[in-house]
This record gives sequence, structure tokens and C-alpha cells, in this order.
Amino acid sequence: MAQHFLFSAAARSLSVAKIMRMSELGVENVFRTLRWPDGKPVCPRCGCTICYECHRRVDAPRWRCKACRGDFSLTSGTLFAWHKLPLRTYLLAVVAFCNEVKGKSMLALSRDLDVQYKTSFVLAHKLREAMASSMKALRIGGEGRVAEIDGAYFGGHVRPENLAAERIDRRLAENQSGKRRVVVVMRERGGRTLVQVAPAEEAAVATIRQRIAGGTLIHADESPAWNALHAGFAMRRINHQEGYSIAGACTNGAEGYFSRLRRGELGHHHHIAGPYLLRYAQEAAWREDSRHVSNGDQVHGVVRLALRCGPSVDFSGYWQRARAA
Ligand SMILES: [Zn+2]
Repeated sequence: MAQHFLFSAAARSLSVAKIMRMSELGVENVFRTLRWPDGKPVCPRCGCTICYECHRRVDAPRWRCKACRGDFSLTSGTLFAWHKLPLRTYLLAVVAFCNEVKGKSMLALSRDLDVQYKTSFVLAHKLREAMASSMKALRIGGEGRVAEIDGAYFGGHVRPENLAAERIDRRLAENQSGKRRVVVVMRERGGRTLVQVAPAEEAAVATIRQRIAGGTLIHADESPAWNALHAGFAMRRINHQEGYSIAGACTNGAEGYFSRLRRGELGHHHHIAGPYLLRYAQEAAWREDSRHVSNGDQVHGVVRLALRCGPSVDFSGYWQRARAA
């Protein structure tokens, strides 16, 4: 049997030890080359490429744009804007985040970096935002391509009573919390993975039509929600009570995605709150698609995405806003 990728030396191209041994300049150069082509500063406001180095502030390099006279740093105008931690800490955070292939506990991250839980919470969500930006407006499939779709329910746990006699039937709608949501995965074979969160599978059909290109052959289980997709797509259906893969119909790729998300939920996150479910689902999709990429390339990929995103609308000043409210 072939060796699993994660056991190979190729999977380990960057480590915490290596980052700790980097010079300050080495760390800055990682951000510089990932942000700008050939590492030459470009003004984030006006795009001018003539920028002068000015005084370093708190040991971080700054530049002044010749055209608009604005000052900027390595992280101005990006997801890491207004950062308070040293750049090295951000790099360490991304390594710790990528190395946990099923998801990184934010409490563990706060211990790794010796920062407050609030800080690691916001940082982890910004990294999820960077990962999600790679799926924005992305369409998968096309003529001759195959995609698998499936749904799985998350959240809304109702705790059973201690005494069996007092327990209610938690399968009944009236006994549920109303917080359960379905994650629907759209996974192209040999391609990318997209996700959607909805109250029920039926509600995701419109999104599936938007995000999977016409001409794609779709594999799905027997859930009646997918019947509507026969109009517009060629489909292969499989009844999972009969087998995992029958007559070429198979959704194992979609199931594999859910096993990663489910293990992340059970083992690392423990509880995924409703409004954040989509973010965790997108994180798991990114991890699924990057699973055969070395950890160094994963880290560079996430930092590059973060430097191309604008400041986070949801997570910049998250705790300051919570205090003011
Ligand atoms: Zn400028």
C-alpha cells in the first residue's frame, strides 16, 4: 500500500523550530514576498510602486507612498491590519493552525502562543476568513466533470435527561432546539470543495445550481431533496442502505469531507455555534483541498490569502465592540 502523504518528508516543509530560528528580517521577508510580487512594496491606497522606507515603528518596517504620501506597513489594508502581536507570532499561529489537519482548538492555540483566548479566537476566525476567500464566487464542475453532493446535520444538541424514563424522543421536530443546520457539500472529483449551510437540504438546491456548472455529472444519495436537480443535471443516485458504492454511483468523497468536519467538531471545537458553522465548514473544505500540499505551502497559501483580503469586517475590533455594546 502506498505511504500516506502525511508520513512522507514532503509533507513537512516548515516547522515551528524553523520559524523560531528565522531572523526578524527573515520573518519580514516571508510577508513581503507573499504580499507583493518580487517583494517590492506597493501602496495599498493608490497602487503606486514608488515608496520610500521611513522610520520603523515598534520595530516594524513602514513605507511612505510618493504619490499619495500615505504611510503603510507590511499588513496595512489586509486581514492582519492593526496587528498587535509580532509578525513571527502570526506565522507561528498559521503553522499551528495548518498542522492540525482536522482543526485547531482555539484554546490550545492560546496556550501555544501565550495569548488570551480572545486573541486566539479572533486570529483563528481571521484565518478561516482567509481560507474562505479562496472559494468566493468559485464555480466547480463543467462538461465531462463529476461532482458529489451530500448533506449532514450539525449543532442544536439537546441534552438527554439523566433518567431514561424522563427522556424525550429527540428525533421529533417539537423536541429539537431549532438550531440544527445542515451543511451541504459540493465536491468536484479531482477539483475543489464548496459548502453551504441551510436549515434543510432542500434550501441548498438553488445554491447548488449556482455553484456547480451545467454539464456536470452529479452523484448523490436518495434524499428526496436532490430530486429537483434531475432537471438540469445528469445524476447518479445511490441508496446507502444498500452499499457505499453501487454501479459506479458513489459519494465517498463527500462523506470524507464530513468525517473531517465531524472529527474537528468532536475532537477540537466541541461545540460549533450556529453563526460560525459556515466558517468551520469552509475551513474543513480548504483543509480537504489542501490535504496533499506540504505544510509550508499551506502556510504560505493562507498568509498570501490573508494579505489579499481587506481588514476583517466581522473580526476587527470584535471584542472591543462586544465591550461597548
Ligand atoms: Zn499611495
